[in-house]
Amino acid sequence: MKLYGLIGKSLKHSASPAIYQQIFDREERTDCHYALFELAAMEELPRLLETHPELQGFNVTFPYKELIIPYLDHLDQAAEEIGAVNVVTVERSTGKILLTGYNSDWVGFSESLTGEMLPDRALILGTGGAARAVAYALRKREVACQFVSRSGKEGALRYEDVSDELMRAHHLIVNCTPLGTAGLHENELPPLPYQALTSHHHLYDLVYNPAVTPFLQQGIEHGCRIQNGMAMLHAQAVLAWQWFKGKMTNVE
Ligand code: NDP
Repeated sequence: MKLYGLIGKSLKHSASPAIYQQIFDREERTDCHYALFELAAMEELPRLLETHPELQGFNVTFPYKELIIPYLDHLDQAAEEIGAVNVVTVERSTGKILLTGYNSDWVGFSESLTGEMLPDRALILGTGGAARAVAYALRKREVACQFVSRSGKEGALRYEDVSDELMRAHHLIVNCTPLGTAGLHENELPPLPYQALTSHHHLYDLVYNPAVTPFLQQGIEHGCRIQNGMAMLHAQAVLAWQWFKGKMTNVE
């Protein structure tokens, strides 16, 4: 049996096992299983690898996407530039375990983005690993990105600095914060001047549970194009599966 899985702190609501089961079923891989591994701390990883010699690769989620980097033997270029890893392949030879880290979030986002034309400028809400992956994907497609952060980190605007005019100048707005997530920040949305939205805007929420978050609800009410994070989740899993199978080494 080949084992794959997801590491994170709290995984109760993860959609990943169902997504991977679809992939295994489609490829008739009855020899593969996908499991959830809740780790209380990153230091538990070596023990996990020891106790599961059949583990071939795993996905990484909150809060370990950055913390895992010191445990890796290799890092692909995109993961290094983004500074976050959400896919790790495991190779074992002569008693050694070799871990390679990748980032499939940026590809998942890029592939899932709908619409014929991308706008010139985007607002990215949040500054975590997912926000940096989204910015990496958009910049590759020549979209200028402006981060918005609660703390006004270097280069980022504070929410209170986002004016109607700024909203009107950025036709793509991507929520990369957990606000709106069911059971966590339910009914919360990033504090923005939503009255400035128009039908030219595209609101993308990385959150996919619920399907329509309060942020996307604002988009509906103002006639915007809206998208949740489900297609991104699927696309990044399909790519991770290629890495797990050793079918792909890098993505440009
Ligand atoms: P992080 O925790 O690394 O970053 C989230 C960022 O959101 C923080 O850096 C912070 O930015 C901001 N933030 C956190 N809490 C709040 C809050 N209460 N109010 C306002 N802003 C807040 O998470 P990730 O970057 O890994 O993921 C972000 C979201 O994207 C999660 O909900 C995750 O589930 C989702 N996601 C979805 C994917 C998909 O495939 N659909 C893939 C990856 C992530 P600052 O401090 O600068 O304000």
